[in-house]
Amino acid sequence: MPATVSRVNTPPLRCSANEHLTVAGLPFRPAYWRAPGNTSAPWVSVCDRHKRPLDVAVGADEPVLVVTIDVRVRLAARCPDVAHALAEAVAALQRQLAAIGGQLELAAVTSDVVQPAAQAGQGSTKGPAGDPT
Ligand SMILES: [Zn+2]
Repeated sequence: MPATVSRVNTPPLRCSANEHLTVAGLPFRPAYWRAPGNTSAPWVSVCDRHKRPLDVAVGADEPVLVVTIDVRVRLAARCPDVAHALAEAVAALQRQLAAIGGQLELAAVTSDVVQPAAQAGQGSTKGPAGDPT
């Protein structure tokens, strides 16, 4: 396990049951229980739904392995008002991340007016391929 660092906001533990990944409509659920693991991990976290009788509660102050992914996300604005577009895009991303137990930690939020690049051999398009409009 990597070195321990202090974090004020720790994302909730995620249930390790594969059902959350494979069953459509079964969203992320916070995991409050520690279950025996396997050869690669001594324990796994599980939600109330997947808790078994011998599983133990995870302590509130126990270190948690947190994965941080630095990415650049681009969304087309839903309206031309910059302030509203920025707020709406951040909220949309936040909702999607929350659905999988993630937290959004903003580094920067910017906007640009972008001219779509014409694809080689094609002129400007008004709709998806095959769209007669
Ligand atoms: Zn679960």
